[in-house]
Amino acid sequence: MVQSSVLGFPRIGVLRDLKKANEAYWAEKISQADLLAEGKRLRIAHWKIQKDAGVDIIPSNDFAYYDHILDHIQLFNAAPERYSSQKLDPIDEYFAMGRGHQKGGVDVPALEMVKWFDSNYHYVKPTLQDNQTFSLAKDPKPVREFLEAKEAGFLTRPVLVGPVSFLALAKADRGSSVDPITLLEKLIPVYVELLKALKAAGAESVQIDEPVLVFDLKPEVKAAFKPAYEAIAALGSAAPEVVVATYFGDIVHNFDVLPAFASLKGLHVDLVRNPEQLEPVLKQLGPTQILSAGVVDGRNIWKNDFKKSIDLIQTAIAALGADRVIVATSSSLLHTPHTLASEKKLPAEVYEWFSFASEKVKEVAIIAKAVTNPESVKAELEANAATVKARSESARTNDPKVKERQAQVTPEQHIRKSTFDSRYAQQKTHLKLPLFPTTTIGSFPQTQEIRIQRNKFTKGEITEEQYDAFIRKEIDLAVQIQDELDLDVYVHGEPERNDMVQYFGERLTGYVFTTHAWVQSYGSRCVRPPIIVGDISRPLPMTVKESKYAASVSKKPMKGMLTGPVTCLRWSFPRNDVHQSVQCQQLALALRDEVIDLEKNGIFVIQVDEPALREGLPLRKGAERDAYLEWAVDSFKLATAGVEDSTQIHSHFCYSEFQDFFHGISAENRTYTDIIIAIAALDADVLSIENSKSDAKLLKVFIDESYPRHIGPGVYDIHSPRVPAEEEFKQRISEMLQFLRPGQLWINPDCGLKTRKWDEVKGALTHMVNAAKFFREQY
Ligand code: GLN
Ligand code: ZN
Repeated sequence: MVQSSVLGFPRIGVLRDLKKANEAYWAEKISQADLLAEGKRLRIAHWKIQKDAGVDIIPSNDFAYYDHILDHIQLFNAAPERYSSQKLDPIDEYFAMGRGHQKGGVDVPALEMVKWFDSNYHYVKPTLQDNQTFSLAKDPKPVREFLEAKEAGFLTRPVLVGPVSFLALAKADRGSSVDPITLLEKLIPVYVELLKALKAAGAESVQIDEPVLVFDLKPEVKAAFKPAYEAIAALGSAAPEVVVATYFGDIVHNFDVLPAFASLKGLHVDLVRNPEQLEPVLKQLGPTQILSAGVVDGRNIWKNDFKKSIDLIQTAIAALGADRVIVATSSSLLHTPHTLASEKKLPAEVYEWFSFASEKVKEVAIIAKAVTNPESVKAELEANAATVKARSESARTNDPKVKERQAQVTPEQHIRKSTFDSRYAQQKTHLKLPLFPTTTIGSFPQTQEIRIQRNKFTKGEITEEQYDAFIRKEIDLAVQIQDELDLDVYVHGEPERNDMVQYFGERLTGYVFTTHAWVQSYGSRCVRPPIIVGDISRPLPMTVKESKYAASVSKKPMKGMLTGPVTCLRWSFPRNDVHQSVQCQQLALALRDEVIDLEKNGIFVIQVDEPALREGLPLRKGAERDAYLEWAVDSFKLATAGVEDSTQIHSHFCYSEFQDFFHGISAENRTYTDIIIAIAALDADVLSIENSKSDAKLLKVFIDESYPRHIGPGVYDIHSPRVPAEEEFKQRISEMLQFLRPGQLWINPDCGLKTRKWDEVKGALTHMVNAAKFFREQY
């Protein structure tokens, strides 16, 4: 019989329950016992959803209060000494590593948090020492939660992050130089002990995640699989059976690693991302090994196309026999919202197209039944085929006007009229820009008052005229403050925007919005991405009203502010029925019209933010990455190249792990060269990049690449309420001048100021402008 399995379930709960419990605990509003009880309630509720759906293999230890990699840091007693020496209660030590701790005389910052592969989830990076030791924590969490499930009537399959991935995703602590993978030998005994304990507790099988197998791996990392998994295999029946799970890519390029798993139960692969890896993977399996076939998408919200999935499963069954095939989610469902049932406001047609975590677990069970006994799920299969057909034929997904326009896009539309030098000469006179021009990134404080008025407007408690008048007043205030600060290029402050992607989505055809579809981004933070359901077009201008008004009350150039096509795409749930490049080009065309409309209305500096450009980069070098860079860059250029030479295009990058391009990255995966080349290829007149926490040295790359255009590396960190002294700004600017030409340097903060308070903003920007003026006098 074909079994069904889920690799992990979202932790946050139907109403972001875990977020609320965590935050209440941090604010000392609930006790530790309350928090733990809430965690248990959520775990049991989630196991029950899966069991009721008919899932055969249900995961445990997929739950984490903050992050599952952080769980493993604690599980292996690998907390850096600055945390362990505080003698905090284990759960407080855990949160201290996740988010810092400033209480009761203890003051420790958080460990670094970075993006989980190419998803929008962030994990806490294990930070290891030269003399690192590992041991199994007392009352290990995977055993505890397995027993908890067992007691509640669920026989689960615990999920562990594998030893190679744990180390490959780690880094050396400050002051250490250890390559984490060299610590493998010390870590293996801990896995051995843990697996034995799980077996003793009654676990029949475990899922060991080795997602790094989808990367291009350093030889040292590749070589680590053999000793690690031979030690595990040697446990024989003293350990549960092991299924090694990979996801978010194909593993064909790492097939030489597979012999390391030869004595294990089997392998899980992602067949949503890479269905073409099925055939080669089937050939690699040993004579009794099983294949866990990931056919239900763990990264998106679309209803499964049963026919497609069943075809893949049938291919696997034909090669292996039904007993050796498991129908599974492609990855953990962590990246999908909890349940579609919460959505009461979606258009009825569109509602039918979606499937969130609670619905996806039913899908795996149905597919498993469909290949065993199709009659038993006949109605479900027919209904599914009907929705798949309806979606493909819907007018929402097919707008002939959009297609026609895309067909007419020409290469010339991607290119500015002149080269940068002659453009800048015109911009300089047109905009009357001094040396070291000062500007900000777009948003000013989103005050309580702004939120209240926006809420009232959404609820219909105030009229559009009243709301507009309020927004104009906010813009007046922002302009007045910028006058006082004596900045050179103004912004309107974005008071009308709820979110930099949702705001545009709401003004474009082709998007829908949910009310409860939250997905964990990190810790207790969740995002609710808009969903692209159909062809995208712009019925009306989206930002002209506010920008035009702002320009009319301002005596200096006013910068128009747009979110770029790649960021609109990446921070939404994209369609899965057309290629992302097609969706991105549709967004680009809509933004192109907006850019041209802004220019027509007297806005001659236009910033198009692309903070998500980097995160969209495919994980491996090669054709897919090259293609991504090409269409991503083309989309930006298509959006921005329609303006006159005298109009200045800015772009902004942050959360982009720029540091990584220069320091942390391994030589075989030097993404920075291609991403920097791509950023240069955008041909934006001015780039602002987050930089205040990085080494100014990394700016050198812009010189090395003989970058001709202008650049504003952030001079201060906007994430902190701290107001840096004028001297600090001067110091930072002089560091930058070691690497950049004076005529090339803009002075601006790291990012938008929406999370700050006005007095912090005024204080910091006063010092920033003074510092810029100081250097202006020197040159
Ligand atoms: N213009 C946006 C702002 O200032 C940019 C935000 C971002 O880069 N994340 O808020
Ligand atoms: Zn930013």
